[in-house]
Amino acid sequence: SKKTMDKIVALCKNRGFVYPGSEIYGGLANTWDYGPLGVALKNNIKNAWLKKFVQQNKYNVGLDSAILMNPQTWVASGHLGGFSDPLMDCKECKTRHRADNLIEDFDGTNVAGWTNEEMMNYIKEKEIPCPNCGKHNFTDIRQFNLMFKTFQGVTEDSKNEIYLRPETAQGIFVNFSNIQRTSRKKVPFGVAQIGKSFRNEITPGNFIFRVREFEQMELEFFCKPGTDLEWFEYWRGFCRDWLYSLNIKEENLRLRDHAKEELCFYSKATTDFEYLFPFGWGELWGVADRTDYDLTQHSKTSGKTLEYFDPTTNEKYIPYVIEPSLGVERLFLALVVEAYDEEVIDEKDTRVVLRLHPTLAPYKACVLPLSKKLNEQAGKVYEQLSADFMTDYDDAGSIGKRYRRQDEIGTPFCITYDFESVDDGCVTVRDRDTMQQERVAIDKLNDYIAEKIKF
Ligand code: ATP
Repeated sequence: SKKTMDKIVALCKNRGFVYPGSEIYGGLANTWDYGPLGVALKNNIKNAWLKKFVQQNKYNVGLDSAILMNPQTWVASGHLGGFSDPLMDCKECKTRHRADNLIEDFDGTNVAGWTNEEMMNYIKEKEIPCPNCGKHNFTDIRQFNLMFKTFQGVTEDSKNEIYLRPETAQGIFVNFSNIQRTSRKKVPFGVAQIGKSFRNEITPGNFIFRVREFEQMELEFFCKPGTDLEWFEYWRGFCRDWLYSLNIKEENLRLRDHAKEELCFYSKATTDFEYLFPFGWGELWGVADRTDYDLTQHSKTSGKTLEYFDPTTNEKYIPYVIEPSLGVERLFLALVVEAYDEEVIDEKDTRVVLRLHPTLAPYKACVLPLSKKLNEQAGKVYEQLSADFMTDYDDAGSIGKRYRRQDEIGTPFCITYDFESVDDGCVTVRDRDTMQQERVAIDKLNDYIAEKIKF
């Protein structure tokens, strides 16, 4: 395939989307910094999500809760104690593996719900080899907590231990009553949040696919028990259609419904949205019916009931929750992979073009003066456009080369200011995808672009 990870990573690095973290110090493994174009793409992704999930959705409201939370939160959620990976070391080659992955990769056995002992026995019985050295000589399973621990205040003792949140969802659950009361929302309603999460992953990798510091876009949608499966279907479809509307192709997306045996004990239904990355299918988005598990747990642990009182029926209940949880970086990667194209123009000429949805493109337009002599007038066009859109300006090299540079970063429109523009007040607009050119009046240019990038 022409879309290899090497090409995607190189383009991201060379054009200022994503740099290796702390590079001048030799890096810090699996950390990434988002450059000028990367931060723009990330913000556009988040804005596209907020627009459809909050702004245009009558049910949902926003939240920005703290990364640092009272540790009782993690007792209630099951992250302290649970949320850990069953790890085994190979005694021969000293590599570390997850027992569940060893089994699943070996013969496809689904180990959901198995105890550590059951997994260890199975690995012994089948003499499952180490994927690295091929020998069969493992340590026992040790649980490893994925949460990053730190200390609040000056004393580093256990009283002051706190954690970086491993998901944003718990900030929503603990604020359920605050939000419901102050927003005067009635069930069903949802709370949407974007923010950083941290997991001390054992096997990070595949560029920005699995990292230890990442951003999540999570919706917790609260509904009446009994209506949950309908709402689950609703959000499952809504999320899928949102991806399609951002130009994710149907053949590269699959919705994998969990079988009964695979479901978490508290979940009634779960669908993994998987995307076909260059390294294979990988989870992009998890949509789950989490029942009343989270609110019940927090009610028990905190002693504050998170019941909802329905004023129309006078019923009291703990709402069920539907959770679509999406990683910003994973979607970033999927969108860049999806958009990446090498278009053969003729035998000697191929162009790299990032066919991003215009609403996602870092720059909506780039202004190109045909000659440096036109910089002053073209500069005015740049100012006019940048009042409304992220706009680039490039006066270096041939027009053809400048077009190609913009194609590579996904800019939907190149605006050429030429000598005629001085007289007729028009510019040439070149479309990234079709390479068609059109003459447009400068005073209509902002409206022209606004119309084309609508989302
Ligand atoms: P995985 O099985 O890939 O570890 P998960 O099932 O643990 O993922 P969830 O806990 O459901 O993931 O998290 C919801 C979403 O958050 C994922 O679908 C993914 O988009 C994102 N996400 C989770 N872990 C990471 C990570 N380490 N790096 C980047 N994104 C992540």
